[in-house]
Amino acid sequence: MLCLGCSRDDNSAQCISSYKLLFDRGDTVLVANGHFDVSFTIEPSAHDTVWMRFGGRIPYAEQETDSTFHIVISGANIVHKIIDSESQRIGFIRENKRKPSSVRMEYDYGNFAAALRFGKPLNANNPTADIWETSTEEFYYPFVPQTRMDIHAEFMVSDSVEVVAAYPAKRVGDCYICEANNIISHSLQFAYLNRNHYIVDTINVCDVGVPVYQMKKRPLTDSERSSMANVLSDAAEYFEEVFGVSYFSEKHGTSSMSVLFEPTFIGLRYNINFMSSPIDSSTYSPWGLVHEIGHRWLGEYNLLIADGQPGAYFIRESLNVFMRMMFGRATGSYDWQAEMHRRQQSYSKIKGTEHDRALIDMRYNSNHAVVYAKGPLILDEFAQRIGYDAMVHIIAEFYRRHDLKPGLRYEDFIATVADLHPEIAEELDQRIRNV
Ligand SMILES: [Zn+2]
Repeated sequence: MLCLGCSRDDNSAQCISSYKLLFDRGDTVLVANGHFDVSFTIEPSAHDTVWMRFGGRIPYAEQETDSTFHIVISGANIVHKIIDSESQRIGFIRENKRKPSSVRMEYDYGNFAAALRFGKPLNANNPTADIWETSTEEFYYPFVPQTRMDIHAEFMVSDSVEVVAAYPAKRVGDCYICEANNIISHSLQFAYLNRNHYIVDTINVCDVGVPVYQMKKRPLTDSERSSMANVLSDAAEYFEEVFGVSYFSEKHGTSSMSVLFEPTFIGLRYNINFMSSPIDSSTYSPWGLVHEIGHRWLGEYNLLIADGQPGAYFIRESLNVFMRMMFGRATGSYDWQAEMHRRQQSYSKIKGTEHDRALIDMRYNSNHAVVYAKGPLILDEFAQRIGYDAMVHIIAEFYRRHDLKPGLRYEDFIATVADLHPEIAEELDQRIRNV
């Protein structure tokens, strides 16, 4: 079982309860730093030690010791804790595994991913935004992977700050309060926006009002707003039809949609109920958001293949890139073959070099030419043999079979191919396993 330390055979069950997360960025002038006060109860289980994902990778090697990380842990029925920064985990050894353990952790955390995305071009005394994600190997709060949990989160803010959270949050005094139940444990993303820099207005997507947070210095033009509304509506409708599941879904925690524009170019992101997109002074194109909408179905919050598993990023990214092009093919709204050609050129730059790796080795998102170009190109090659509609059907069926099921493996994808199109399964598997 991938639920590290959880006793339940069904590791989608809740093994952590009464989870409360308080976040306060305080008066710090540094972007993406903040203070956390986190408490939770570990339910009785068959394990002496309960492991949770926690911590960042690159700048936090020094987190190994309490003194440099300033982490204070208290609670009942825990005798010891281990912080393993190499594997980004924290372990709680329990006095009595048949009794619940209460844990409280207080720590200051600098979110490297958030600083990278937002910190550099900004005036540190007047930051524009922070975005906090449990992704890109950054886990700012502890959680048991691939489980669900209820969470009560409070984000302390000053008057000039607005919080955009993955789950609805209400402003009460100087705090945004978010109650979210039965969420995928790693999905609590949020953004802090400096109101002095942002304006918000609403566009209509599939007859639902979608807030769009825009930078005052670079608001969308009227034509950019209307083309974005059309592209988002068309993409949501296409994917809903292909996957047979609505964008808005209580089971998936997708109750709303909003779009947040960033001042820098690092990349687009799907964060459950808000998508983030870079914008610069030149003309804005909404096509990148089609890929982000696709992550509602094909991505880390639905296809629960763990980081580090063979082929994890073929499953989470390559399939979604291919499906974005299938949206272009089905709707005729953009030149998907030109995009395929661009990806061919991108892959040809590394083909046959030491950077050309097998897709099965994409355990982390560590090689963009392989994940985002070679992966969809291989799918395209086989789609030309069995038909594009047949390949779309395979991917949709794979999603339907494994949506939200913990412990997903690459082999589950090939098993779906073998069921639906046995004539290509072995050869496709070999192409993914070999360079
Ligand atoms: Zn993606």
